[in-house]
Amino acid sequence: MAQLVWFRSDLRVHDNPALFTACQQAQQEGTDVIACFLRPLEQWQSHNWGQNRIRYTERCLLDLKEELEALHIPLICQDVATFAGQIPALLQLCQRLNCHQIFANEEPELNERQRDQQLIAQAEPAGIHCQLFHDQSLLPLGSVLKNDGTPYRVYTPFRKQAQQMIAQQPVQTFPAPAPVISDPQQSLQLKIDSLSLDQPDLVIFQPQNYSDDPIQQRWPATEKEAFHQLELFCGQPINRYKTQRDFPADAKGTSLLSPMLAAGKLSVKSCWQAAEQIRLSDPAAAESASTWQGELLWRDFYRHLLVLYPELSRNQPFKKETSNIQWRNAPDDLQRWQEGKTGFPLVDAAMRQLKETGWMHNRLRMLTAVFLSKYLLIDWHEGERWFMQHLVDADLASNNGGWQWAASTGTDAVPYFRLLSPYRQAERFDAQGEFIARFVPELAKLPAKQRIQPKGYVQGYPNPVADLKEGKERMMAAFKAVKSES
Ligand code: FAD
Repeated sequence: MAQLVWFRSDLRVHDNPALFTACQQAQQEGTDVIACFLRPLEQWQSHNWGQNRIRYTERCLLDLKEELEALHIPLICQDVATFAGQIPALLQLCQRLNCHQIFANEEPELNERQRDQQLIAQAEPAGIHCQLFHDQSLLPLGSVLKNDGTPYRVYTPFRKQAQQMIAQQPVQTFPAPAPVISDPQQSLQLKIDSLSLDQPDLVIFQPQNYSDDPIQQRWPATEKEAFHQLELFCGQPINRYKTQRDFPADAKGTSLLSPMLAAGKLSVKSCWQAAEQIRLSDPAAAESASTWQGELLWRDFYRHLLVLYPELSRNQPFKKETSNIQWRNAPDDLQRWQEGKTGFPLVDAAMRQLKETGWMHNRLRMLTAVFLSKYLLIDWHEGERWFMQHLVDADLASNNGGWQWAASTGTDAVPYFRLLSPYRQAERFDAQGEFIARFVPELAKLPAKQRIQPKGYVQGYPNPVADLKEGKERMMAAFKAVKSES
C-alpha cells in the first residue's frame, strides 16, 4: 500500500502541505509514499506556456526528484498530453501502485480546478480518496472577503483585510517531512524497480537540465538555491526595496524570486515569514520589508480574483464594456513592439530584456503593457500571450492581472486616461540611461539624455513607431466610445 502525492505547481519538499500530510499518514500506517508528475505538454501550449517556462519547470522537477530521493520517495515523471488525460493516468497509477489516497495542492486556474473536481468525482467511486490542500497563496483562495461576503475588487482594502487576518492567525509553514522508510531492507532503487514502470502504456520522461540554454542558466531551479536567494535578499536588499524597486538597472532592487514562486520551488509563505522576521526585528528595515510583503499580497489578490471571477480564465476582461473597444489591427507595430524596435528606448530595452533573459522588471512590464494597449491601441490579449510565451515566471493570475491593470480593462486598473510616457518613465527610473545602454547597444555610446530620448536619426536605431500625442488621442476616443455605449 502507498500514498500517492501528485505534484503540479508546488515542486518542493519544504512547506508542501500535500507532501507533508501524505508522509505523516504513511508513517502512522506503515505504508509508502510515491510521487508523480504528469507533464501535460499540449495543455501547457494551449495555455501559451513557452519554452522558457516549460524548461524551467523541468529543471525544478530534476531537483525535486533528488530532494524526494533523499526522503526515500520515488518520483514518477509521466507524459500525458492534456488535463483530460491526467485523470485516467492517475487512476491507473493508483491501481498499479495499490494507492487508495491521492494528495495534491490546489491551483487557482479554472481548467485546473475543473480537472480536480472531475478527478474527485471519478476517484471516489473507485475507492480512491483525494485530498486537496491550500498552498498557493498566503490566505486560502477565495477566503479574503468583505463583511457582506462579496469579493474585494480593489487591492488596498483587500490588503488591509488580508493583513488583519494574518495578524489574527500568523502564517505557518510546514517543515520538510522526515524520510519515509516502511521497509528498512528495501533500497530506493529496489523500490523504484518494484514499481515496474517499464510498460508500453506509460510514457516516462527524464527531466533535463538544459545546461546549454543561456536563459535557463540565469535562473536557479533548486530548492537550496531558492532558500539561499531568499536569505540573501532578506539579508540586505530588502532594506532598500521601498526606494530601489522601481529602478531596473539595479539588479538587486527586487528579489528575482518570481520564477521560483511561479513553479512552486519556493512557497509564498516562506517568503512572507522571512520578511516578517525582518519587519519585527529591524525597525530601520520594517517599512521596506512591509512594502515587499505588499507585493506578495498583490500576488494573492490576483489569485483570489481568478478563483472568484472564472471569466478571467476565459480571456474575458473584468470590465465587460471594454470587450467592445475597437483595437487596431496593426501587425507591423505589434512586431516592432515584440522585437524591441519601437524607437522608444526604454520600451525597446525592456522588450529585449524579456527576449534575452526570459524576465522583465515590474516597472517595465507596466510600461510596455501600457505602451502596447494604449499608445499603439493593440489588443492587450496579444501582449498577454507574448509575455506568457516568453516569461520564465509566466503565471496566468499575475500576468492577466498585470495586463488588465495596464489596459484599464481590469478591476482596480489604472484609469484609462492615465498613461505612462516612455520618455518620462526613463527620466525618472533610468535617468543615466544605464539600463537602456545594457540592452540597446545602438544607443550605448550616446550621452545619457540622448539615450533616453534620441534627437534625430541614430544609425541602426529605428524612428519612433508612433506619435505619442496622436496615440493618446486615438486611445481616448476608443475608450470614450465604449463608455458612452454602456
Ligand atoms: P519582487 O518585487 O521581489 O516581488 C516579490 C514577489 O511578489 C514576486 O516574485 C511576485 O511573485 C510577487 N509580485 C510582485 N509584484 C507583483 C505584481 N504586481 N503582481 C503580482 N505579483 C507580484 N508576475 C509573475 O510572477 N508572473 C507573470 O506572468 C507576471 N506578469 C506580469 C505582467 C504585467 C503586465 C505586469 C504589470 C506584472 C506582471 N507580473 C508577473 C508581476 C511582477 O511584474 C513580477 O512578479 C515581478 O516583476 C517579479 O520580480 P521579482 O520576483 O523580483 O519581484
